[in-house]
Amino acid sequence: MSLYREKAVVLRSYKFAEADRIIVLLSENSGKIRAVAKGIRKTTSRVGARLEPLSHVDVQLYRGRDLDTVRQVDLIDTHTAMRVNLKQLEQGLSMVEAVDKLTPDREPVPHIYTMLSRALRALNDGSSPIIVGAFYWKLLASEGVAPTLEDCVRCGVSTDLVAIDIQEGGILCRSCRSGTAISQTALDILRQINSGGLAAALALEETPAVREVNHIAMGLMEAHLERRLRSIGLFDRHL
Ligand SMILES: [Zn+2]
Repeated sequence: MSLYREKAVVLRSYKFAEADRIIVLLSENSGKIRAVAKGIRKTTSRVGARLEPLSHVDVQLYRGRDLDTVRQVDLIDTHTAMRVNLKQLEQGLSMVEAVDKLTPDREPVPHIYTMLSRALRALNDGSSPIIVGAFYWKLLASEGVAPTLEDCVRCGVSTDLVAIDIQEGGILCRSCRSGTAISQTALDILRQINSGGLAAALALEETPAVREVNHIAMGLMEAHLERRLRSIGLFDRHL
């Protein structure tokens, strides 16, 4: 078996056999990895604490055919502050859950690894009411499916834009509208996130527009994941 080493974020873990767990990791260079961590359900296991979801670790693994095996784990960051604040913990878990659903096994996605580790660090430094929405939006953009925000995607007008539709791939004016309603303030926030103003967006207070951006980004993420699952299902049937 070959040994390799990766930096990774723990996305989730689940029980396996008597005392083992399967750890799902998003690694820097090897994409999403599933690995067995042996004996970590024993209460004395120090490795177990390092492999909690949201931990940022440096891990040595044996490559297996389906599952790898964890050999050694060093902590880069436990994100302790996030774990003791329920709101931040929920936000962190929403982010790793979306990444888990979005990424296929063993396909390198270094840009998503970078985005996730940065977002978790920012969240650990302090909660932001828009962090999950902004992170989902950036994830959708990295997948190439974030709706365009310039002009009405159907008729091209640049004023009176009132709706956003993932099926149409953009925003829509009052006469063409379909999908979800969007306010001008929420649209401005999304444009700000798109044009590199993420830090400024993260500093926003919770307002109706911020809640709207979260709601829109979560709805788009759900729609995208559903479509993806359906297309995978279709693919499977043709195999
Ligand atoms: Zn239009």
